[in-house]
Amino acid sequence: MKTLKFAVLPGDYIGPEVMTVALDVLKAATEPAGIVLDYTEADVGGIAIDNHGVALPDSTIKICEDADAILFGSIGGPKWENLPPKEQPERAALLPIRKHFNLFANLRPGLLFKELTDASPLKTERIPNGIDIVCVRELTGGIYFGQPKSTTILEDGDIEAIDTMVYKKSEIERILEVAIASAKARSGKICSVDKANVLETSVLWRKTATEYVAKHAPELELSHMYVDNAAMQMARDPNQFDVIVTENMFGDIISDEMGIVCGSLGMLSSASLGTGKNQYGNPFGLYEPSGGTAPDIAGKGIANPCAQILSAALMLRYSFGLNDIAQKIEAAVKEAVMDGNRTGDIAFGQKSIETKAMAQAITERL
Ligand code: NAD
Repeated sequence: MKTLKFAVLPGDYIGPEVMTVALDVLKAATEPAGIVLDYTEADVGGIAIDNHGVALPDSTIKICEDADAILFGSIGGPKWENLPPKEQPERAALLPIRKHFNLFANLRPGLLFKELTDASPLKTERIPNGIDIVCVRELTGGIYFGQPKSTTILEDGDIEAIDTMVYKKSEIERILEVAIASAKARSGKICSVDKANVLETSVLWRKTATEYVAKHAPELELSHMYVDNAAMQMARDPNQFDVIVTENMFGDIISDEMGIVCGSLGMLSSASLGTGKNQYGNPFGLYEPSGGTAPDIAGKGIANPCAQILSAALMLRYSFGLNDIAQKIEAAVKEAVMDGNRTGDIAFGQKSIETKAMAQAITERL
């Protein structure tokens, strides 16, 4: 008997809807192995502003600190859009929680099943076998966090805003380690994306990537690409990549592009892994869908729960070492989606999924 202790932070709008059914699927997948789910729910984002006055209350952080992993929904939406930028749910909760737990590595699988290629905006002949790539994004450094960061009214009345992009060699090396582990489990190819023709941080990034991979994983094939070219290549031929490793802002943009070429935001999961280890010696991590809170469809029971369910599978794999059960869930999602051929509906804006029915279809296939 094993007990999985994790924090559940459903968040706002569709967050709680997809979280509820993801927990049902998780329970159905783990129960046969005698595994008990010991999770504690906490407020984060807009709901936390409403109930506690802040987007990331100390009580929520404490619940996360006491857990071995965090299963996260998504946060934000129109109700809180008029707050000052610093108080908005994403900025006031998501960035601080990443920083607090040192969640420096974001892994986003970009997966589109072969049978569902028409859900992608790319022509089927460009992706005849679907898409299967991974983006490894550095998550706690770079321009989103670098100091100074300010907006100043100048003496002549003009306004100047400053963001600073900073990277240390050690920060680059630790994200490379994650990319190397991922590439070793896949085809052995890493593409490091930077802008080394204009940015100092990228010059360091490229040099560090070259030296680190040569020293620690010489069997891997490492290539480098400028981010503007990578954006074009993602839209032209995504499968030329296998594992992409890149800095925070480039990864933010490239991974969203990857999301749309894969057809549906409702299908894309992500894992953010920290430097800390949990009681099993596995990485402490935060697992969440790649999409947002979808306020336009919230409350209608039609949100696609797959990304949340697949995020729970990633939690089993990385933070609890339960790869077999993670694979079982992933296979069940694939079968359920294909039997109903439901992803295309979301990609093209016809929201015909029923959240509960989809989760039920997945549970039946476990
Ligand atoms: P969004 O991802 O919420 O929605 C974009 C489109 O995709 C919408 O049409 C939506 O209906 C659809 N969609 C997204 N997920 C879906 C799902 N599971 N099933 C079916 N359809 C789905 O992006 P947005 O509209 O730009 O943002 C809405 C809110 O979410 C904003 O407040 C934004 O700040 C927030 N947001 C939060 C996170 C996060 O918590 N990590 C990430 C992105 C956006």
